[in-house]
Amino acid sequence: KFQHFHSLITVNGWVLSRGSGVGKSCIVLRFVRGQFDPTSKVTVGASFLSQTIALQDSTTVKFEIWDTAGQERYAALAPLYYRGAAVSVIVYDITSPESFTKAQYWVKELQKHGSPDIVMALVGNKADLQEKREVSDGIDYAEKNGMFFIETSAKTADNINQLFEEIAKRLPRPSP
Ligand code: GDP
Ligand code: MG
Repeated sequence: KFQHFHSLITVNGWVLSRGSGVGKSCIVLRFVRGQFDPTSKVTVGASFLSQTIALQDSTTVKFEIWDTAGQERYAALAPLYYRGAAVSVIVYDITSPESFTKAQYWVKELQKHGSPDIVMALVGNKADLQEKREVSDGIDYAEKNGMFFIETSAKTADNINQLFEEIAKRLPRPSP
């Protein structure tokens, strides 16, 4: 859903992955609060955070992000979360091939049930763990599925702002 107030674009987005531990909550906390807490607890329920960024064309984009916890496990509930979302960020962990497979499940789900003009991003997180890398690259899969691809590290902050800036650039603009 988009709400246009002058040049402010409000984005309802979901950070999703099938399974946990890939770093979704850490990505959102890094983006919104600029922090990384390696001892942070598993999200209970769905937490809501928002952050506003300014683009070079002076458009302001306000992200309203729902960080889902374990609800993804209940497949019947999932459509409640992503219905109406303008953006979906699907995260896997570059050290976990299993998480990459599970991310692909979410891509298919969103292609089936999400809004047709949803902006989808595929994110390979934990890019700081190069020595443990087991997923070589998600770019081919992302391109085949019309997704934006980026590797991030919530720990080092690498590419976190770029992720959200690139999403913002891909959003439809309010008519003047
Ligand atoms: P979620 O279940 O997908 O929300 O995952 P969390 O955000 O709770 O993170 C799961 C675990 O991965 C935690 O122990 C984090 O400290 C760790 N983690 C998250 N992001 C990164 C990252 O970019 N690099 C490293 N090395 N660890 C991370
Ligand atoms: Mg979480």
